[in-house]
Amino acid sequence: MPFQVNKQGYYGEFGGAYIPEMLYPNIEELRRKYLSIMEEASFQKEFHQLLRDYVGRPTPLYFAKRLSEKYQAKIYLKREDLCHTGAHKVNNTIGQILLAQRLGKKRIIAETGAGQHGVATATVCALMGLECKIYMGEVDIERQAPNVARMKMLGAEVIPATSGSKTLKDATNEALRDWINHPENTYYIIGSVVGPHPYPDMVARFQSVISQEIQKQLREKEGTSNPHYIIACVGGGSNAAGAFYHYLDHSKVVLIASEAGGKGIHSGKSAATTILGKEGIIHGSKTLLMQTDDGQITEPYSISAGLDYPGVGPLHAHLHTSGRGKFHAITDDEAMQAGLELCQLEGIIPAIESSHALAVLDKIKFQKEDIVVLNLSGRGDKDLNTYINYFNL
Ligand SMILES: *Cc1c(COP(=O)(O)O)cnc(C)c1O
Repeated sequence: MPFQVNKQGYYGEFGGAYIPEMLYPNIEELRRKYLSIMEEASFQKEFHQLLRDYVGRPTPLYFAKRLSEKYQAKIYLKREDLCHTGAHKVNNTIGQILLAQRLGKKRIIAETGAGQHGVATATVCALMGLECKIYMGEVDIERQAPNVARMKMLGAEVIPATSGSKTLKDATNEALRDWINHPENTYYIIGSVVGPHPYPDMVARFQSVISQEIQKQLREKEGTSNPHYIIACVGGGSNAAGAFYHYLDHSKVVLIASEAGGKGIHSGKSAATTILGKEGIIHGSKTLLMQTDDGQITEPYSISAGLDYPGVGPLHAHLHTSGRGKFHAITDDEAMQAGLELCQLEGIIPAIESSHALAVLDKIKFQKEDIVVLNLSGRGDKDLNTYINYFNL
């Protein structure tokens, strides 16, 4: 299976585990144990019970009639926006906290940029009664006050990262330093299909419940488990990896990823990683990333906080370079208009990340009978202020 990770942790030429020696024992323990733990019957039972009763899965596969009329195709929305906490991220944090428990870890750490992964992590720590420390850049703490409040209410400690640009990359460095200093009792929950092997594969497997449900739901609704297209937005790439997972080897299913084109690909203000990126190493993984000629990581930009990441998971770097995945860069303006359109055609206010996936509908020439599944990764409540300012509401 060419799109699954190999034994060394690579997707094609991307992936691996480029880590300081001090982290080797932690990563090696995880690498040796993650698959056997995830395959245990008792793990699967508890994971799926929580996904059902706590997260609210399966999420509906909703036939969007008015959207379908507009774009002249059969468009289904996979409603990850209806998950507890408002997005797909909780699928992964539930999986990883069950794994941490089985590894005997009592203390959980995570990094967060916009705060969504911090909230999803704080949520499952409260659920399991585990100590939770969230590293967050000082600048992000100021920009994302509501999520900081949520994390605190959920009992987490939010620790400011005060070095460098005081954003996500610095928070990640602090979290890694913490993990090196507490290898015995601490587990690090990473929030997307990024980081050293085995994280990208592990997170993709937890999120693969999305495509597993799509297959079953489409079979019931359309008599076939395969759509013609699957569309998802890509920050690090976890909701897309989950939506693509069971279709990776079905070459007839077109996989479409949407990245943040920001103010335009050549404006210097974007996060269009696959288009602008070159091979490099970020967060312990070899992948495509936005960097200067001398290899400094460039500060990404997007109107949506969840897409503003300078790299992309190694699976997506491989999907891009192999041509299996088709990547589009969507500008802020295109995303905002597509988000508003969904509000008014379907009565659903999407997360601005998901609006980037919606904007792709306008870029493709569909046939009327085409079945299109769009992964609606999250709801727009968290983005209301951005919508208000953008549309002068
Ligand atoms: C975090 C987030 C994303 C981006 O993360 P991926 O790992 O690329 O899925 C997309 N949509 C929503 C709603 C998010 O919260």
